[in-house]
Amino acid sequence: MNLTDAATLRSLLNRHGFSFSKQLGQNFLVNPSVCPRMAEACGAGPGVGVLEIGPGVGVLTRELAVHAEKVAAIELDHRLPPVLAETLADFSNVHIVEGDVLKLDLHALLAREFPGLRVAVCANLPYYITSPVILKLLSEKLPVESLTVMVQKEAAARLCARPGERACGAVSAVVWYYAEPRVLFPVSRASFLPRPNVDSAVIQLRVRPTPPVVLRDESFFFRVVRACFSQRRKACANALAAGLSIPKGEAAAALKSAGALPNVRAEALPLEQLAALSNALWETRHG
Ligand code: SAM
Repeated sequence: MNLTDAATLRSLLNRHGFSFSKQLGQNFLVNPSVCPRMAEACGAGPGVGVLEIGPGVGVLTRELAVHAEKVAAIELDHRLPPVLAETLADFSNVHIVEGDVLKLDLHALLAREFPGLRVAVCANLPYYITSPVILKLLSEKLPVESLTVMVQKEAAARLCARPGERACGAVSAVVWYYAEPRVLFPVSRASFLPRPNVDSAVIQLRVRPTPPVVLRDESFFFRVVRACFSQRRKACANALAAGLSIPKGEAAAALKSAGALPNVRAEALPLEQLAALSNALWETRHG
């Protein structure tokens, strides 16, 4: 069954009485060149278990299953497993897990699904939870080597922007702390059914074995970067004071000890300075 053929896909979905849910970010891939490229980029092969999020009707799942030792795919929409039972009938190395990726215990899931295997994540992510999913996968320190994921084009640029670059935001700082991100290739909106209003891109985050900076407290660092970027147009000292409910003098002193000018904007701070800033503020509070 050729799932990238729009007519085949429509007839499959009609047979199952399935209609797309916008709320669940259901835009299914119908461009035949994308899934093979994603499967290759994520390193699917012997000895590798691939975790997919949101298999839909299984177009990427099938490609991953051809190459990987095993695929586990988490799907929230309970209407899809019966469709997947049909489209994945030829594969014995795929397990569909029904549930919400944001609520599942992923440590337990990976231990259960992939004992003895190296693990990669590969997914066409539902756009409405792109950042929460990526942050969960990274901050839970799962035994995963890389995430190869399709996201909206603008999200790709933001997620991969290096701290200190104009496009960066709080999420970029957190991503760079845990991983080395890069944009792999663009994917046009014409590659999906139904066609979304924006283009996409496949990005890859290679999880770092050790972080590039030392933090006194990771969750405090996340609070600090969120505060820094909460008011992008403002000087960082003001944004920090407002976001953390601290005196402006304390924010300015921490910026100074991180080697930054008091009127600097968050987007100009490289990861090392964001880390030094967070550590200085942490010391003031707890040191
Ligand atoms: N992989 C398929 C493809 O490329 O054609 C479908 C991708 S579609 C963009 C996103 C998929 O994620 C849908 O199947 C949707 O039902 C599923 N999904 C949405 N929210 C989810 C959640 N919280 N947990 C797991 N899956 C979810």
